[in-house]
Amino acid sequence: MYYEGPIYRPPSEAGSLLIQATVGCPHNRCTFCMVYKDGVRFKVRPAGDVKADLQEARRVYGEGIETLFLPAGNTIAMPTDALCEICRYAQEVFPALRRITVYGSSQYIHKKGPAGMEKLAAAGLSRIHVGLETGDDVILERIRKGTRSAEQMTAGRWVMEAGIELSVYVILGIGGKERTVSHAAQTARVLNAIDPDFIRLRTFVPKVNTPMLEDVQTGTFTMLGPHEVLRETEALIKPLTITSQLTSDHYTNYINLFGKLPDDKQILLQEVKLALRRDEDCFRPFFIGDQ
Ligand code: SF4
Repeated sequence: MYYEGPIYRPPSEAGSLLIQATVGCPHNRCTFCMVYKDGVRFKVRPAGDVKADLQEARRVYGEGIETLFLPAGNTIAMPTDALCEICRYAQEVFPALRRITVYGSSQYIHKKGPAGMEKLAAAGLSRIHVGLETGDDVILERIRKGTRSAEQMTAGRWVMEAGIELSVYVILGIGGKERTVSHAAQTARVLNAIDPDFIRLRTFVPKVNTPMLEDVQTGTFTMLGPHEVLRETEALIKPLTITSQLTSDHYTNYINLFGKLPDDKQILLQEVKLALRRDEDCFRPFFIGDQ
């Protein structure tokens, strides 16, 4: 099996077969992200090569594979027909396959339109992980996410309407002290409009070789402390009126939250409240990320 560039996958894909259909990220401009900044250029692998990898995986692991993740920054950006062909072939090779997942940013989902999402769903694509990061258009512009909240809402709804599971990532603290109120309120607004299957919280950690680390070091960007991140979390959860599973399954977070909205909303808020009673020294220290 062929692997090129950094291979990232969500924690929820820890047990999945990883087969690369694309390399790198076609956007590669987000100011907080270091993943593909070392020069690896975006490319789509020929479908024949991906199919050969799927065959090899079957020889190595047998035909019992149940979940497949196609890693790299924005595999959703590859041509729809080629991605459909790979999804269909994967199901032939692995008859027990019940989930095929990719990463995808809203702008690339938006380019495909609702018809593209329906086509992919029919071919067997079953889950997309989208880096929403924030619903605040000022922050989206600053972090050069390449999309706006209106586009994120439309794209998210198209994914849900096509019957593809949607998992969205929110970065707590990504607006710094200056935008924390707006970040929480605007992100809740966008999440309420989409009602994704999963909301996954991450906490902003400046990464090596990124413009945001420079901003932190020069004082242009003021990071939130643990209590401020927790208060932002509270402000984000309170206005949610949706049915998503909310989880903070990541090493960057100050506390672990896990609950199904709306039933667990008060429990989640209570956990945040309890955490706010702890001294700030009890939480993980500041660090600069290198992965
Ligand atoms: S965060 Fe995602 S879309 Fe942005 S540069 Fe990194 S891989 Fe690409």
